[in-house]
Amino acid sequence: MSVMQERTLPRSVAGPAAWEGLPAEQQPHWRYHAEYLRTREALAAAPSLVTVAELDTLRRNLATVAAGRALLLQAGDCAESLAECMSDHTAAKLAVLNGLADRLAAGAEAPVVRIGRIGGQFAKPRSQPVEWHDGRELPVFRGHLVNSDVPTRAAREHDPSRMLLGYQASARVLRMLREDRLRRTAGTAVATAGIGSGPWASHEALVIDYEGSAIRTGPGGGSFLGSTHLPWIGERTRQPNSAHVRLLSAMDNPVGCKLGPSTQVTDLLRLCELLDPDRVPGRLVLIARMGVAHIAETLPPLVTAVRRAGHPAVWLSDPMHGNTVRTGDGVKTRHLSDLVDEVLACRAILERSGVHPAGLHLEVAADDVTECVGGKVSGEEMVQRRYTTLCDPRLNPEQAHELVEAWT
Ligand code: PEP
Ligand code: MN
Repeated sequence: MSVMQERTLPRSVAGPAAWEGLPAEQQPHWRYHAEYLRTREALAAAPSLVTVAELDTLRRNLATVAAGRALLLQAGDCAESLAECMSDHTAAKLAVLNGLADRLAAGAEAPVVRIGRIGGQFAKPRSQPVEWHDGRELPVFRGHLVNSDVPTRAAREHDPSRMLLGYQASARVLRMLREDRLRRTAGTAVATAGIGSGPWASHEALVIDYEGSAIRTGPGGGSFLGSTHLPWIGERTRQPNSAHVRLLSAMDNPVGCKLGPSTQVTDLLRLCELLDPDRVPGRLVLIARMGVAHIAETLPPLVTAVRRAGHPAVWLSDPMHGNTVRTGDGVKTRHLSDLVDEVLACRAILERSGVHPAGLHLEVAADDVTECVGGKVSGEEMVQRRYTTLCDPRLNPEQAHELVEAWT
């Protein structure tokens, strides 16, 4: 028997065929695991974590952003931990997100739509399949939806039953987001006060088995992803013919897409046509993560092409992912000064192209971590003091406030 042969899925979990069988990078290897089918069946029968009414509200709010009358802040962990989804953790993360959004709103004198990288940000694309620990080669950590961060061979096995843990943790976190949203709108008439909407949830829609199990049908017959409000496609899976692009193009949620420095105009136009064929304001969020060294050259033709093609996209600057460097000790870090330079360059390019600079996409911790250099973390030698991220280096709240301040 060939182990390479793709297993035929029962109809209950197979999903619509539009993306099944299309190329999907970065997927777990677990289809022969004893828990695989049972987990997918349980997920397929579980309630949606978001409502169609919420998606409609978010899309209207994002349309206001696209029209230049509001800003957007998307921020949170690089990789959420399943061990940090209790109410105290979530409250601390929401306090940081809301604090940054309020700062942005005050500085820019505009309402700010706030979206967390939260309530489902459990799967990570990786550039290498393996990593080294104490001289031993191990399968790389791929996010708590797939395996454990503990550096042993057993803990790094891909385990599909983790998808249920991810769903349950997301459900807890999204309940708290809903409560926070209601609290923020109650009494204070957020809309008239110009403060902006949210907090909404977002994550990278990476694991096709998980996202495919979260598809639900809305009252009007359309399909939506019940796992989050705003799913986004990562830089490594945005090929126009990928399962990721085809899956999200069939969903009614607003969708995001990361764009790195290798993005070609023709690919981007194809991507926009697939994700936003009807040019709907509030449907598409494009997240530029070019790197400070490349943005001046790579971003302008993309912005112009999207504008000319008539897509009313929301353009965000992600200054994190194009500016990762290693310290002398080989630890991943980022320098706040590079991040400031990239967000300012991004803003100037968008303005010159006649496009609204809609805001920022940041990786920020709720705690006073020392993962990035800047502010009180005055040099690379300080980076390892409080370095707790599961994946990429995050700003601490003070550094993130400095970045927001610089941008406004
Ligand atoms: C991320 O947002 O954590 C990420 C992996 O981003 P990108 O797809 O832009 O590399
Ligand atoms: Mn990251």
